[in-house]
Amino acid sequence: MTTLQLVFAGVLGALIGSFGNVVIWRLPRRESIVFPGSRCPHCGHRLSPLELVPVLSWLALGGRCRACREPISPRYPLVEALMAALFVLLVWRWPPTEHGAAVLPLLAVVAMLVMAALIDIDHFVLPDVLTFGALGVALAGSFLAAGAPGLPGPGAALAGALTGAGVLLLINRVGGLVLRRFADTRERLFPFSLDQANLAAVVGALGGVWWGLAAGAVSLLANLLTRRVLRLSEPLVYGLWLVALLLTTTSFAVGTAEGVAGSVMAAGAWALVGALYWWVHDLVRPGAEEEVGEEEQEPVAMGFGDVKLAAVLGAFLGWERFLVGLFLAVSVGALFGVGQRLAGGGRVIPFGPYLLLGALLALFFGDAIIAWYFGLLGVGA
Ligand SMILES: [Zn+2]
Repeated sequence: MTTLQLVFAGVLGALIGSFGNVVIWRLPRRESIVFPGSRCPHCGHRLSPLELVPVLSWLALGGRCRACREPISPRYPLVEALMAALFVLLVWRWPPTEHGAAVLPLLAVVAMLVMAALIDIDHFVLPDVLTFGALGVALAGSFLAAGAPGLPGPGAALAGALTGAGVLLLINRVGGLVLRRFADTRERLFPFSLDQANLAAVVGALGGVWWGLAAGAVSLLANLLTRRVLRLSEPLVYGLWLVALLLTTTSFAVGTAEGVAGSVMAAGAWALVGALYWWVHDLVRPGAEEEVGEEEQEPVAMGFGDVKLAAVLGAFLGWERFLVGLFLAVSVGALFGVGQRLAGGGRVIPFGPYLLLGALLALFFGDAIIAWYFGLLGVGA
């Protein structure tokens, strides 16, 4: 284990952080992220390479533009320093000299998710290109993870991704039902709608993941064959889902563990497939999302940022540590919310950044927390 590796990781992280600042600013504004070069937002002064050295340039210039002396936000060097610190931690935990390339996909995924989380804080959106991009890298990268401690292999990564997506989808749907006081949605998307995931959740609880997946396929096929959106109302579906979950404890169903896992993973799979379809659909036909009135439908394509983010997190954590990360995210979010209220308000922070924070904590401390928890229950050890 050489210091050189860590230094290299820190420099690489700072450079990626610097590029990340460009992405965070330009991606949500639909500007090119490679061209033109960086300029001062106040006077348009073109930044020279010497003014673009991560962290150091900002410090050397005293946090001001060299041309107009207007202040430059400290957020830029902070993002660079954060990325450098994360890269050093990841390489320290999975040094390439010991575990080969296992850490590389993780670096790329964490970099993309930090950018996505900061865009979420600014614009309340997690860009699909970052979440789906990171999901692809995380799933493909799981093939490199074989043998590296604490990183899931391909099967566990896929199960983790489906679990992450499914848990967030179910929170999203059940939470939405409660907020709407159990009224149905007006969502009528064709051919991929919420119905595939909703039905998969019910049938998956009774028959396991494969039957859940099949139920979603039947729903999609029925839509395609009839050229209409055939759907069950959500209050009905989630009423049935509760009954199905109760039945998992009886001999009618596959058993509680398999039923819950089947319900979550089948629903997650159809949520992701639907989200992927709508992402590609909007890429191919830009502006299509603006044609339909926003009031008319609940957009599957845009509202599922946290579902996609959770899929990425599950893919590199595995399902057990994903649940630890989710618990930490909810706890930190609640504490911060209470703190904010006591301090007399402040900006609303979306859930995405908390989710990423919880996941990063779970990546390093998840196994210790799981061991501590089961120790508390008196199981294992
Ligand atoms: Zn300037």
